[in-house]
Amino acid sequence: MPKPLLSVVAAMTLLSGVCFTAQAQHSSLFAPYDCREHAELFYSEPVEEVIVPDDAITVSLEVEETPEVVDTVNGWKHWCYVENFHYGKDRGAMPMITDLNALHPYFRDRIKTLIETCKAKGITLAVVESYRTHAKQNEYKVMGKKYTNSGGGKSKHQYGLAVDVVPVVDGVAVWNNTALWKRVGVEGEKLGLRWGGRWRKPYDPGHFEWTGGLTSTHLAVGQLPTIPRVEDLYPCMAEDIRILRRYWKEWETAQSAMTRK
Ligand SMILES: [Zn+2]
Repeated sequence: MPKPLLSVVAAMTLLSGVCFTAQAQHSSLFAPYDCREHAELFYSEPVEEVIVPDDAITVSLEVEETPEVVDTVNGWKHWCYVENFHYGKDRGAMPMITDLNALHPYFRDRIKTLIETCKAKGITLAVVESYRTHAKQNEYKVMGKKYTNSGGGKSKHQYGLAVDVVPVVDGVAVWNNTALWKRVGVEGEKLGLRWGGRWRKPYDPGHFEWTGGLTSTHLAVGQLPTIPRVEDLYPCMAEDIRILRRYWKEWETAQSAMTRK
């Protein structure tokens, strides 16, 4: 039987996405490795057979392609991010990662749904910050209680399980419309997310998180939330998480260097 040759590079070229709220995000989006797409490609990739009758040797030839090479090692460098004051607020000197692919895959999909649901109701949401390094978290901690009570490792943002968003009206981030926040918050809660609009110290209506019941202590020792029907819905979760953690570490190294400057 001829054996199809799997072209990993070709498969990776299919892994591209669209930045939500493109006007707010600088770099192109890099989708994490996802073997489900590889698997589909494995069976669908055209294979040319050359049969030599005498010796009955079957040779499989990969169809010539010149795929664009996507760097799976440096993918973190392509994550969308914004600089301070991008949404009109002082959020410190270090850039904010806004890429949804920097989030835990299950949580990422919840947030995509939140953004889509809000859009269907006429509310445009921009992602202000998704994954956050310990270095960035410590920067907020130094900036005071208005920003956070938590130091590095204590926020769900450090585990890709929290996101900050803001409604955008006529291209402007709207931070102070309580009624609008409420509409967004309710939609997030319908998706099973914890909404920072319920908090008072600090009131944080742009913040959504989900941990599947785990605390920061569990997360800090590397525990991962249990995902319903993970085998069916996220067959490559372990590999996705492994790559995500590597990318998070790269960002940590980069932003820690900024702290030392
Ligand atoms: Zn937050």
